[in-house]
Amino acid sequence: MLRRCTLVALALVVLTLAPAGLAVADKIVLKDGRTYEGTILQETEESVKIRTAKATMTFQKNQIESIEKSESKVGDLDKRLTSLDPAQPQKYLETARWLTKEGRELFDVGLLRRLCNAAASRDRSLAAESQLLLGKELLERGSRLDAARSFARAANADSDEGAALRDKTLTQLRENLTTDLRAPLEGLDLVIAGNLPDALPKLQKSGAAILEELAAAPLNQSWDMFVTDIASRVMCKPCGGSALVSCPACEGTGIIKCNTCLGTGSKGGHKAGKDMVVLFKDTVCRACYGQKSSLCVKCAAERDVHILFDSTNRMGKNSETVHCVAGKEPQGLRTEIGLTDYDWTECMPGKVYVASITALPISKGGRTPCGTCKGIKYNPPATPVDVEGARRVKAAVEAMLRGEGSTDLLLKVGDSTFDQAAVADGIRYVNGRWVK
Ligand SMILES: [Zn+2]
Ligand SMILES: [Zn+2]
Ligand SMILES: [Zn+2]
Ligand SMILES: [Zn+2]
Repeated sequence: MLRRCTLVALALVVLTLAPAGLAVADKIVLKDGRTYEGTILQETEESVKIRTAKATMTFQKNQIESIEKSESKVGDLDKRLTSLDPAQPQKYLETARWLTKEGRELFDVGLLRRLCNAAASRDRSLAAESQLLLGKELLERGSRLDAARSFARAANADSDEGAALRDKTLTQLRENLTTDLRAPLEGLDLVIAGNLPDALPKLQKSGAAILEELAAAPLNQSWDMFVTDIASRVMCKPCGGSALVSCPACEGTGIIKCNTCLGTGSKGGHKAGKDMVVLFKDTVCRACYGQKSSLCVKCAAERDVHILFDSTNRMGKNSETVHCVAGKEPQGLRTEIGLTDYDWTECMPGKVYVASITALPISKGGRTPCGTCKGIKYNPPATPVDVEGARRVKAAVEAMLRGEGSTDLLLKVGDSTFDQAAVADGIRYVNGRWVK
């Protein structure tokens, strides 16, 4: 049982720490008894170099009693990455190839992206193969647009296979986008025709990240801002333009029946009549303090609770008010007012007693953001609708779907053979991180 747990735990560690390495360690035992665990970086006839969590050290072979090497692929990957040298770009491609074959469970696609683009950026003759490898992996992982961009870079490096895969992937992409972008295109037509109420729901149904990319330049603002601008010009019927509707959970009251006492206000299980003295503190529901209701969490309601004592306390006050927020009401009452400092009803000399607890009407809550207008208030700007912007976005989307543009609007790779962004923060792997 214990062994099984350890194995499971180990597997988790390997998965989580994979890129950083060191999860399953190599071990060096010296003749003087000292032991070092880490990753063996280099081994020669005379010496062994090991990187531990604290330092990198070299030991002469004649100092060493034994060496245990981990079989793990994590250590293997770590070694491969550490030995990468920008002067040998083919090593990056080899490591990428190894990853897709042997180390599948070890890497996230960002690592493969970096390795393939590093190889392509250092040696143009490796670009075609690197980008094909990356593109195929991206395609397998469902990132069709990114895959098409890799294939396009392979094609830029004179790969016929890259060109064929680019065109095939693009055709599939455009087919999907034609469906995904139908509603926003209709919405843009309606904006141009001046019918904003019908345009809005169609514009809000975009669902394609490419629209954000395509629309930014023609609009001089983000697609989201454009849609929000249209929304603020449309009076929403369900909420009357206020962007808020009555909370469905509490029907707008901000309070719901206390589910501890089921709205009775008293503690269950108390046998009335059996006890000599029936104390308020023994019978009152400790979730709602006798209020029979609690604040609605759905609309984040708030209210003040007024506590009256039968005499003044040491602060000279005979009442206190606690501001309560939904979900923390009993805690608020218990801690803020220190109810334990007070007794409840039975008289004892020198004590201050709680005479009553009264919750005031809610000061906040009862309303939730309107789902129809997505919580955007009716507040039409003085400026006219950007109809020209809408026309330009429509033209750009249609051109993209037809595959027009000197460099394809979808691909945006120009004549590059590698992705600059993927290698921007370095291609050397030192002490578990990428550096320039
Ligand atoms: Zn509510
Ligand atoms: Zn209650
Ligand atoms: Zn208050
Ligand atoms: Zn609304």
